[in-house]
Amino acid sequence: MKFIGAHVSISGGIELSPIRAAEIGATAFAIFTKNQRQWDARPLEEESILAFKQNLKKVHIKPEHVLPHDGYLINLGNVDSTKRTKSLEAFIDEIGRVNKLGLTMLNFHPGSHLGETSEEECLSIIAESINEAISKTSNVTLVIENMAGQGSNLGYKFEHLATLIDKVKNKKRIGTCIDTCHTHSSGHDLSTAKSFEKVINEFDKIIGLNFLRGVHLNDSKTEMGSRKDRHESIGKGSIGLDSFKWLMSDPRFNNIPLILETPNEEIWADEIAMLKKFSR
Ligand code: ZN
Ligand code: MN
Ligand code: MN
Repeated sequence: MKFIGAHVSISGGIELSPIRAAEIGATAFAIFTKNQRQWDARPLEEESILAFKQNLKKVHIKPEHVLPHDGYLINLGNVDSTKRTKSLEAFIDEIGRVNKLGLTMLNFHPGSHLGETSEEECLSIIAESINEAISKTSNVTLVIENMAGQGSNLGYKFEHLATLIDKVKNKKRIGTCIDTCHTHSSGHDLSTAKSFEKVINEFDKIIGLNFLRGVHLNDSKTEMGSRKDRHESIGKGSIGLDSFKWLMSDPRFNNIPLILETPNEEIWADEIAMLKKFSR
């Protein structure tokens, strides 16, 4: 079975997010656990946590179908140790928030070398950060997202994710998320049936589909291999509608959250309804 939703807002309180998801017909969803553009956040209030759990039950969405996303300021691969520590502390705080909400995963971007070190060295720093985060927290699986390859962001090669997983000691707490826009933009063509199959098999061979914990469903505004991170509404970009039909009817994507991060919120309900139809 497919579980489909969108990255919904937490404005007015994180406890409102399950209701927002249900309103657009979602059976899964993503959230930030705090303002994604700020370092500091007050701890979640007990009432808010309780209401979140109650609302999740009310809308019949399982905690394992919620895929929280970490904040945008975090760079686990920063060579500057003061800056890396700040990122790591913020990351650990977010893992704690996820755990308190009764959720099971935190989706994150690997990190950026900022032109200050090699990709290889940066991956080692990221892996070290992940291991430290895991050792200082419990329960939550850390879900690495593949990236488009914009700027100095790592994670645009499947090998980057494989290297990170390889270096993580506790394999039970590491997973991956495929972002379709990032995949296509980073040079893995999802627009033809043959190539779609090839890309997913490549992902399986290099990383392992057994590590797949979620998918971000986005079309791409820019062409295949552009290394630009520009999401487009489903069927309106260079990936095209067919690719989402293949994905929705592919059992390899069963039972994990499939999350829209498409730019036009107004049509999320329609996109979800359409994707549900593809999955039948
Ligand atoms: Zn992301
Ligand atoms: Mn994404
Ligand atoms: Mn993106």
